[in-house]
Amino acid sequence: MQHKKIINLYPNNNHKSLSISLQVQDKFETRGFQVSYENNPNADLNICIGGDGAFLRAVHKSDFSNIPFVGINTGHLGFYQEILIPNIENFIDEYLKSNYEIETLDLLEARVHFSDDSEALIFNALNEFVVKSSDSSIIHLDVLIDNNHLETFAGDALLISTPSGSTAYNFSAGGSILYRSLKGYQLTPLAPINSKAYRSLLNSIVIPSMSTLRVKVRNEDSDSNSTLIIDGMSNEYDNLNYIDFKTSTKSISKLTFYKDWYWLNIKDKFL
Ligand code: NAP
Ligand code: MN
Repeated sequence: MQHKKIINLYPNNNHKSLSISLQVQDKFETRGFQVSYENNPNADLNICIGGDGAFLRAVHKSDFSNIPFVGINTGHLGFYQEILIPNIENFIDEYLKSNYEIETLDLLEARVHFSDDSEALIFNALNEFVVKSSDSSIIHLDVLIDNNHLETFAGDALLISTPSGSTAYNFSAGGSILYRSLKGYQLTPLAPINSKAYRSLLNSIVIPSMSTLRVKVRNEDSDSNSTLIIDGMSNEYDNLNYIDFKTSTKSISKLTFYKDWYWLNIKDKFL
């Protein structure tokens, strides 16, 4: 007997997303699929229902699953959420005919090293990492690219964004939009200080994906804790030493159905 094909659904918690999720479940079950809300590792497709935040949470919940993702938008336009509610039926038809492209979205990896020699912690992000002080005081960070000292940053925070995350927090902070399949990542300062005492770069730098970026906490910050924000989720540390960032060896994939949607979405969302 042939096994049923499986679809994972990841709705966010609002009423509309839950109701759309039931409709999507029904449409796939009618076509002979099995639907799971439990992150089934044997599924063929992960469907996220909600806004871009719902996509981010599904990617983390699945621990960066290599099953392709697709997003159904229940809010305003989204960068990860390509399918609009009136197009759900059409999306399922095109999916069954394999009429889509598979895009790889690169992730960023952070290796967090502590001053007491305890084991480094490793995290992945789809949008970005942010390094700041936990009490909102100025943070002082040495910035090195492939071991070359670039600057001593002083300001609110440093933000390190993937290409697909470049339209999120990075964009609000004045960073550039990087097309989501470009190889590399972006370092963007948040409120960098420029005075006689401090000189920090005011603009973003795009770093090639084979390079490592090191961000090291300076001694003047030893009294305050540091926070690493991973796609919007905060982790606080009292003995952070340095973090090495690079393009992760892991990635995720996303189905795209409408080729022009990226640029239309940028115009629609920002202009
Ligand atoms: P949220 O507070 O609901 O998200 C903030 C906004 O960012 C939402 O409008 C969200 O879209 C949008 N967004 C998320 N990823 C995006 C992307 N790749 N491109 C364009 N817009 C994107 O929190 P959330 O939904 O959990 O999202 C977490 C993200 O919020 C973080 O990764 C960070 O990028 C962003 N953020 C932005 C700022 C800022 O711009 N000043 C500050 C903090 C965090 P939806 O409404 O569709 O979810
Ligand atoms: Mn959100």
